[in-house]
Amino acid sequence: MRDLLTSLDSTRLGYYKSILDEAEIPCFIRNETTAQLANIFIMPLQPTLCLLNDADYDQASALLRSYHSPQPSSSEEWLCPACKESNPASFDLCWNCQATKPE
Ligand SMILES: [Zn+2]
Repeated sequence: MRDLLTSLDSTRLGYYKSILDEAEIPCFIRNETTAQLANIFIMPLQPTLCLLNDADYDQASALLRSYHSPQPSSSEEWLCPACKESNPASFDLCWNCQATKPE
């Protein structure tokens, strides 16, 4: 298991989780409810989006980054989640590493 992202904005975490769900990357949100409890003695536990498999970390972070940042190149192109190369829209596999085009 590996922490991917911590945020007090659990709505945003839920949105990111749905992106990972669609990519079939196993993940869950930890501490989703505890964040709503105020506790002055200990640090509140922040909601954290966690990956079940450490090996998914690179793919998951690249996937979320592509949702975060605007595409630098034309919208006709897609960014390979595996190697970050941009590909023409007509390519179904990454020209560089043959990764499948993300949805
Ligand atoms: Zn690639």
